[in-house]
Amino acid sequence: MDVSTPRAVVESIPALDRLLRDENFAAPIARYGRDEVVRALRARLDVLRTQARAGALDASRLASAAIAAAVAAELQCHHGPKLRAVFNLTGTVLHTNLGRSPLPDAAVEAVVRALRAPLNLEFDLATGKRGDRDAVVAELLRELTGAEAATVVNNNAAAVLLVLNTLAARREVVVSRGELVEIGGSFRLPDVMHSAGAKLVEVGTTNRTHLADYADAIGARSALLMKVHTSNYAISGFTHAVAISELAQLGRDRGLAVVVDLGSGSLLDLSRWGLPPEPTVREIIAAGADLVTFSGDKLLGGPQAGIVVGRADLIGKLKKNPLKRALRVDKMTLAALEAVLVLYRAPEFLSERLTALRLLTRRTETIAAQATRLQAALQAAVGTGFMVSTVAMTSQIGSGALPVEMLASHGFAIRPARRGGLSRLEADLRALPRPVLGRLADKTLWLDLRCLDETDEGEFVAQLGALSG
Ligand SMILES: *Cc1c(COP(=O)(O)O)cnc(C)c1O
Repeated sequence: MDVSTPRAVVESIPALDRLLRDENFAAPIARYGRDEVVRALRARLDVLRTQARAGALDASRLASAAIAAAVAAELQCHHGPKLRAVFNLTGTVLHTNLGRSPLPDAAVEAVVRALRAPLNLEFDLATGKRGDRDAVVAELLRELTGAEAATVVNNNAAAVLLVLNTLAARREVVVSRGELVEIGGSFRLPDVMHSAGAKLVEVGTTNRTHLADYADAIGARSALLMKVHTSNYAISGFTHAVAISELAQLGRDRGLAVVVDLGSGSLLDLSRWGLPPEPTVREIIAAGADLVTFSGDKLLGGPQAGIVVGRADLIGKLKKNPLKRALRVDKMTLAALEAVLVLYRAPEFLSERLTALRLLTRRTETIAAQATRLQAALQAAVGTGFMVSTVAMTSQIGSGALPVEMLASHGFAIRPARRGGLSRLEADLRALPRPVLGRLADKTLWLDLRCLDETDEGEFVAQLGALSG
């Protein structure tokens, strides 16, 4: 066959039907199905035709094995998971865009078990009757917070929505102007209030709110007094906020429930691990709050969930609201949450067993030693165009927890040896099989090693080889 002219090359491209019968296509068809192979093969043949017409086609690419290999590669990419594990070296531990808290193995195994086989999700094994989906975790939450009752929904935004809709629809909720928060990712308290059908009554000023401000705002249409934890910012200087205990007393005097959106919600005092103190759910309940809402995947270290604990009569009302049905959690969440909550029964092991806490409490010296250990491999992988130095840096907890407190950490500062190329390197790291995500600032790529678990180090180093290509 004469394949010397572009036209002759085009004519020598094998026909689709013939290729599909070729043995090289048997494996892709068995794996991805005929329709998908036909789609990918059509696209491949179009590319070959275009290249042939441009006189840019090497005849070796027309072998059926070569075409099949190209089709298989495309299908593997197309069918591969789009949700992928990454290395979070951004320095933000509970990173909302990266899935917040990683789960401990115990929770992962519980999820897998819950998915593989039927389970007593809403079935009481003791009585043989229909059960309550919340029961398993509600028991643990009562134990861990001292609250009378608990329920769980999809996330904390849903928890706040459910509370407001159930207890304050078409009525007023009194909130301090200093606490009308917006949390990243479109949670704005005034908007949630509106969606719940409740009317926001703002009191006080941005920096100072007093008990009398709340008291003066209470009227015939008042339903709740609400406090919102200022999760992702701090108001400092000339400030005053009303303590939960004072507000709770006012609520009792005037017959209004006091609701606290705690945001991150930690179950234990983190200062025992050297972390900045954050109010615990137990303290807020003990101070007299009627309901407290918080997230499952922030400081708690569990799956995405919104937890409400507090007075049994109020929790009972939440559970009767049809919205609860719409916001309910699935069995994966409950399985993971149960496994994580159980870990809290043994606080002395928590910083080993709870992944989020393990990462948050990794010692600076440990991280520095890890940086020293990995530096040569990283330097070799990025090549002489860049300088990799190990440097001290600070991580943040993330997800709005403890916004102003930073954790001393260690990692790499990567700078171009001569000129530019840094954003290219950043993109190359993102293109690795398990993408490595850092932070570009001040003409430097910063890789914070706080979240590089020692058990993942081998995988981290092994894939660096792909960079030098
Ligand atoms: C994070 C946060 C929320 C939203 O919680 P999600 O679990 O992300 O829905 C609401 N309120 C406060 C104070 C928060 O910090």
